[in-house]
Amino acid sequence: MPHHTPLIGTIVAGLVVAFVMGAIAHRLKLSPLVGYLMAGIIVGPFTPGFVADAGLANELAEIGVILLMFGVGLHFSLRDLLSVKNIAVPGAIGQITVATLMGMGLAYYMGWPVMGGLVFGLALSVASTVVLLRALQGANLVETRRGRIAVGWLIVEDLVMVLALVLLPALAGVMNNADAAGGAGSLLAPLLGTLLKVAGFVALMLIVGRRVIPWALHWVVHSGSRELFRLAVLAIALGVAFGAAVAFDVSFALGAFFAGMILGETPLSRRATEETLPLRDAFAVLFFVSVGMLFNPSVLVEQPLPLLATVAIIIVGKSIAAFAIVRAFGHPGDTALTIAASLAQIGEFSFILASLGTGLGVLPAEGRDLILAGAIVSIFLNPLIFSLIVRSNRREEAEKPPEQPRMGHVILVGYGRVGKLIGQRLAERKAHFVVMETDPDRAEEAEEAGLSVVRGSALEDRHLIAAGIREARRMLIAVPEGFEGGAIHEHARHLNPDLQVIARAHSDAEVAHLEGLGVPHVVMGERELAARMLALCGAG
Ligand code: AMP
Repeated sequence: MPHHTPLIGTIVAGLVVAFVMGAIAHRLKLSPLVGYLMAGIIVGPFTPGFVADAGLANELAEIGVILLMFGVGLHFSLRDLLSVKNIAVPGAIGQITVATLMGMGLAYYMGWPVMGGLVFGLALSVASTVVLLRALQGANLVETRRGRIAVGWLIVEDLVMVLALVLLPALAGVMNNADAAGGAGSLLAPLLGTLLKVAGFVALMLIVGRRVIPWALHWVVHSGSRELFRLAVLAIALGVAFGAAVAFDVSFALGAFFAGMILGETPLSRRATEETLPLRDAFAVLFFVSVGMLFNPSVLVEQPLPLLATVAIIIVGKSIAAFAIVRAFGHPGDTALTIAASLAQIGEFSFILASLGTGLGVLPAEGRDLILAGAIVSIFLNPLIFSLIVRSNRREEAEKPPEQPRMGHVILVGYGRVGKLIGQRLAERKAHFVVMETDPDRAEEAEEAGLSVVRGSALEDRHLIAAGIREARRMLIAVPEGFEGGAIHEHARHLNPDLQVIARAHSDAEVAHLEGLGVPHVVMGERELAARMLALCGAG
């Protein structure tokens, strides 16, 4: 058996245990994140059995952060970013200030030095990119106005932390030799240096990157090689993020976001998203595993009250601050609630700050333990809080009167390449039908075409019910994945056993699967294409 393969061991143990725990969480109807965190605790050093390498797990998690932020950048334009600056900049800075002061208060009470309190407070004030994005993606909110505000807010937080990481060592030095001359001056130089580097990076991306990256990608597309395209997308995402961190000292997340944003301006962004999805999901899972690995359960016994106070600052204190700020800027209550809930957690930046603080000798070890435990607890509770809030918003939406009673209608699942053509024909025939679509852009397109649309996945009963599944006569499943189509069929027939389903497939295995499930009509794209091409050939 090979012995010195810690990297392979960490990836394999992380993914395998996360899969098992994620599957258990799914069965128990819990958020899969809870399963991944548990997996981390299992492979972590504080529980018996196999121990994965925490340092490697952290690095792997960074790849998850890079790919997630790249994906967000793909759907974000510079205009989106600027359109939310009026709320994101004061909001993030205000919330960081409030949370830091609360953290410093707790630290003062615990008798830690002021610098220790500052690091502790800052660590409690920044939300985790991965947790926030997973929550927004899960609720289909990334491309809504509130989603954009939350992402803009996150980017401002990210910038503030980049500055904090540079300034803290200098500040600690000044505090240690308070009487040495030029205290403020020694802070000014690193501050200016960092600002210049961030500005340099942004300028380079907007001036050079904006030309070179789309050009390179177009060239690859014309080469016709799918493999090269996939490689190019990964090279751009990882290369820009890493280059930005090495050359400009900005975070990986920020670098990746800009790389994505530039690619997002080209028509290739949808394909680029598809190419990075599987890797992104796998590495995001490793992020949660790596967080779980840090959890030392003894904090629960040794410091229950300080831990409670820490969690209260993260979940209650920060939320109230964010809610108040968003409301004060005149945004509606549901926007304020979504933003408050999505930021009520801490993650990767907090760990970096904690280790910097202990490294500088200003943060006591118990402070670091509280930050880690606070992160675990808040990440654990976040999906719960988030789904409660989103559900209560949905309830308000559900109270709106239905547009028209539905009876004997058709449900069209998916408004993509195939669904759109079906929808157009059905509309021409004045058929009575409802579109179900998960992708916000495509849902909007359907709405603009005047169709009745349910935004959400046909895999979830509540969305099916919103589309009037019980009264529907037919369902056309126009999603490209036959196996997903099979699962949609199962859900739909469970709610309406008389429903007549027509499904789409792209392989013999999918056709067999769907027919095995009892779908009466399965249309296979490739067979129809072949038949049509043959017919044309005969005609010519
Ligand atoms: P295309 O492959 O271009 O025909 O697009 C398929 C469309 O189906 C995409 O726009 C997807 O967002 C959509 N879609 C995929 N799965 C689901 C689902 N479970 N519920 C609703 N829409 C879906």
